Amino acid sequence: MILPIYVYGQPVLRQVAEDITPDYPNLKELIENMFETMDHADGVGLAAPQIGLPVRVVVINLDVLSEDYPEYKDFRKAYINAHIDVVEGDEVSMEEGCLSLPGIHESVKRGSKIHVRYMDENFVEHNEVVEGFLARVMQHEFDHLDGKMFIDHISPLRKQMIKGKLNTMLKGKARSSYKMKQVK
Ligand SMILES: [Zn+2]
Repeated sequence: MILPIYVYGQPVLRQVAEDITPDYPNLKELIENMFETMDHADGVGLAAPQIGLPVRVVVINLDVLSEDYPEYKDFRKAYINAHIDVVEGDEVSMEEGCLSLPGIHESVKRGSKIHVRYMDENFVEHNEVVEGFLARVMQHEFDHLDGKMFIDHISPLRKQMIKGKLNTMLKGKARSSYKMKQVK
């Protein structure tokens, strides 16, 4: 089922999301719905707060980029209770967008290497050191679990430049090709 994507201004996007336990109701269905919602909106990642749930569940699909990044062929994964312990490596700038910020694309500096821990769909724990594009996507998505959005990482000047677009979202007048839940 395709779910509406919560847009900037929705308080859930600024909440710190909670870890879940294996008895979380309908988890399998939630993950399926998140994949479907992300695919429909042409996203590479989606965090549960973006569909209105303050829990630490994220889906990532890098298969769509496998023409440019062959190492990500068939890469579709769900991450549960994800946390980033260390960010290191060189800071790299790259343009980012976000399904909760339709129409905004800004260059964001992030560390190139991270240490993450999470559980997979079967609640098996993983500890990984991740680099490259996946490290960027994880930082973007896992930020959502801590109530952060990519615009928090841009300069005050750039933030000023996008103020009009943000205000449009706060008025509930943003547009996109997918179903959204705006504040008004
Ligand atoms: Zn996002």
